[in-house]
Amino acid sequence: AALVSMNDTIAAIATPVGQGAVGIVRLSGAGAIAVADAVFSSKRGKPLSAARTFSLCYGWIVRDKEVFERAGRTPQAMPELIVDEVVVSLMRSPHSYTREDVVEINSHGGPRVLSVILELLLAKGARLAIPGEFTRRAFLNGRLDLAQAEAVLDIIQAKSELALKTSLTQLSGELSGRIKGLRRRMLDVLADIEARLDFSDEELGGVPDDALSVLRTTLQALRSLLEGSFCGRIVREGLKVVIYGRPNVGKSSLLNALLRTDRAIVTAIAGTTRDTIEECVSIRGLAVCFVDTAGILEAHDEIERLALERTRKAIDACDLLLFVFDGSAPLGREDEALLSQVNPLKKMIGVINKSDLPARVDASRLRGLFGVRPLVHVSALEREGIKQLEDEIFGAVFHDPGLLSADVLVSNVRHIEILKNSAASLERSIDSLQKGLSPEFGAADLRRAVDGLGELTGEVFREDVLDVIFSKFCIGK
Ligand code: GDP
Ligand code: ZN
Repeated sequence: AALVSMNDTIAAIATPVGQGAVGIVRLSGAGAIAVADAVFSSKRGKPLSAARTFSLCYGWIVRDKEVFERAGRTPQAMPELIVDEVVVSLMRSPHSYTREDVVEINSHGGPRVLSVILELLLAKGARLAIPGEFTRRAFLNGRLDLAQAEAVLDIIQAKSELALKTSLTQLSGELSGRIKGLRRRMLDVLADIEARLDFSDEELGGVPDDALSVLRTTLQALRSLLEGSFCGRIVREGLKVVIYGRPNVGKSSLLNALLRTDRAIVTAIAGTTRDTIEECVSIRGLAVCFVDTAGILEAHDEIERLALERTRKAIDACDLLLFVFDGSAPLGREDEALLSQVNPLKKMIGVINKSDLPARVDASRLRGLFGVRPLVHVSALEREGIKQLEDEIFGAVFHDPGLLSADVLVSNVRHIEILKNSAASLERSIDSLQKGLSPEFGAADLRRAVDGLGELTGEVFREDVLDVIFSKFCIGK
């Protein structure tokens, strides 16, 4: 566990490393204003300590404030004392991100300037913040709950528009609000059951029916959150799609058409794509990563054997398979053999390529092989049908459009894990209460479910869990 004191005043560079239009050094803590005051000289001569709750002050960061001020605060006369011309923003506790006094020094942002400012602040008594410490303080001071704090990180790392949108919803507290509501209902029932534990059954009778029905609705709510989490995970991590099919059907050409670039090597020689290449694009705001594979049935040498193994791994790990056929050639033994190797549970779209050429493929046989799974005609060469294929790819994840507009999409692995465990505990609790087993058992499982949900929002937390969560942040956040 990180040994950090909440009483320290912390400082860090809050903007990315490198040259920027502005750079921000951020301070938070009870001493933030005093520390900043020790290195900042305002143009108007007013100390920061005299500033109002929200203030912007213009002035200079100086190496020796005393000398600078005695000389009449004239930068022209003492340029060697000036580190930078800055605007300082001040937010007094509790009206700040961390709910502590926060000072942000906006400078011209050269990396050297920022580190000089930071060093001066450290010399005046601030401590360098550890990663995520500002957000951790915001959490510990009740400004954000844990799910919201994690959303801050997700927003920074968002890979796509959709991922960003989900994280912003999470930051607004939608998920936490829902979870807290469910947890409170369970807590009420738990309190009720625990109160009865001290009495004998004859005195009180069993667990009341309405308590059980509250638990059942709660379980239903947890399950529907979990149902959406498949989409949530894909929104967050991107959809992994493997392009598969026998050599020369046009897999690499299709990848190029989907990427609208000419990255993958396309040649007329069978089996050029020996390795796997992964490329990502955004389809309707969703990050979609395509892997081109070598669609070979058997390996003749070591290179092919490795390619084959890589392909199998990619297929196992993918969320969706694009199975490509050459529409200008009859369906071959090779096509069917490859197809038969695919796990029938895999999400799959059939792509009949080369629609610019006369059709020779047995479409009705393919229809039969694919059943209810979609089949799309495209020409990778002419880039026809690509839009329709993209719609099918998107629809393969969001087959239920309601999921996308759902106000809460759980996407964080930690949250999914907690929801699963809590749902399982709750289910066990309902089960034993229904069976009329001793209410101690039901109460213990219910307690586990309640605690689990508390960990999601941070109503219940452990320092080591916080360490793990916040270590993923950068310093200054
Ligand atoms: P892969 O082995 O499955 O990756 O196939 P390639 O993408 O390398 O393509 C094999 C050959 O088919 C190349 O000569 C491509 O130009 C050609 N090809 C690919 N897609 C089409 C298409 O839609 N129409 C036509 N006419 N030729 C295509
Ligand atoms: Zn290829």
